[in-house]
Amino acid sequence: MPTMLEEAVVQLDQVAAHLKLDEGVHKRLRRAQRALIVSVPTRMDDGRVEVFEGYRVQHDNSFGPTKGGIRYHPNVNLDEVTALAMLMSWKCALMGLPYGGAKGGVRCNPPAMSQGELERMTRRYTSEIVLLIGPDLDIPAPDVYTNEQTMAWMMDTYSMQRGITVPGVVTGKPVLLGGSLGRREATGRGVAFVAAEAARELKISLQGATVAVQGKGNVGGVAARLLREAGCRIVALADSKGGVHHAKGLDIPRVLQAVQEGARLAEMPDADKITNDELLALPVDILIPAALEGAIHEGNAAAVRAKLVVEGANGPTTAGADRILEQKGIRVIPDILANAGGVTVSYFEWVQDLQFYFWREEEINQRLKEIMVGAFRRVWDSAAEQRIPMRLAAMSLAVRRVAEAHRVRGLYP
Ligand code: NAD
Repeated sequence: MPTMLEEAVVQLDQVAAHLKLDEGVHKRLRRAQRALIVSVPTRMDDGRVEVFEGYRVQHDNSFGPTKGGIRYHPNVNLDEVTALAMLMSWKCALMGLPYGGAKGGVRCNPPAMSQGELERMTRRYTSEIVLLIGPDLDIPAPDVYTNEQTMAWMMDTYSMQRGITVPGVVTGKPVLLGGSLGRREATGRGVAFVAAEAARELKISLQGATVAVQGKGNVGGVAARLLREAGCRIVALADSKGGVHHAKGLDIPRVLQAVQEGARLAEMPDADKITNDELLALPVDILIPAALEGAIHEGNAAAVRAKLVVEGANGPTTAGADRILEQKGIRVIPDILANAGGVTVSYFEWVQDLQFYFWREEEINQRLKEIMVGAFRRVWDSAAEQRIPMRLAAMSLAVRRVAEAHRVRGLYP
């Protein structure tokens, strides 16, 4: 199987061919601009020292500081982090944000670690990458298994080393410390906005539309709740241990509340158990993969029966699966568009931090909607005009913008 980075590069190559991209610019964009590998020695609760491996990769800084999340997961590696950094470049460019793409991560297993261990690891990781980060340099944010608390530790560690408080060094912080209202829900909210737009185009009425969501976290959980509020029936929800299915629709707030109180999703009363593969194969109107990359692959894509796939996760559909879905006539709203709500409100958070002036939540949600719907329209219209898939249309708009920045800035020296 190709690695995630190989897939990302093949995808770029296809877009470059489509755009007849300048060869020099194409060569530059195939690689990351900077990558740092760090070792993160951490005192564990039992007194042992564990040494974790961490990364921070900056793909391209043509537009300004780089931006991207920090992932804690046992599968984190340089290849994956580089691919995700590249994806962030395209996402920021597509949304018209003044950022380049970056990503970071530490290979570790957070569910098996205590809060103290996570805090010590986060602080050491932050000091190891301190050379690369800063509000005008590179701005981390949460990703899988990192959250507001992680960002608060990162912000505190950076601020302690600088001797002043620097809220703008990370986004996705607690509101108390300069986080933005609406940031926690922004990615899921953006997913819901584009799902609603796409459904309208495809003449799927949101009232009673059936939806299956893989991932009950920051992205999947919020998207499920907001789409339910918009009238959809969320018939299935799953996490890494499997999930639940209810043809009449799940009571999402109740399910999420129970999970927060420690219940297992797969053991909810009043609903049937479902595996992840079964969820992906449900005959629903909208399927939202919002867990990890590679969820829909060549082995299971033929079984997908949704009318519309909205990629909440980063890279949930492999290139091989993409071709199969296209042949089946299933519309895919690509990740760089569908889940860009998070980085968009991160941008709002950073702007607020730099000005020490904070906006109302309605204002934030309204601006998010304008940006998401605007980007959706550009991608939809471009795809329709050229009769190409949404992913190629979105990638082409994004890569063209980055390439144009390279052309105008020229090659140093
Ligand atoms: P999260 O940690 O809050 O939730 C992840 C969810 O995925 C959990 O419910 C987990 O149980 C589930 N999961 C993990 N492994 C799984 C597996 N093998 N099968 C099924 N489910 C599995 O993470 P999140 O922030 O919701 O991120 C989810 C995805 O969205 C990632 O791809 C991330 O890169 C992407 N994303 C997140 C944001 C954001 O703002 N949080 C923004 C853009 C993209």
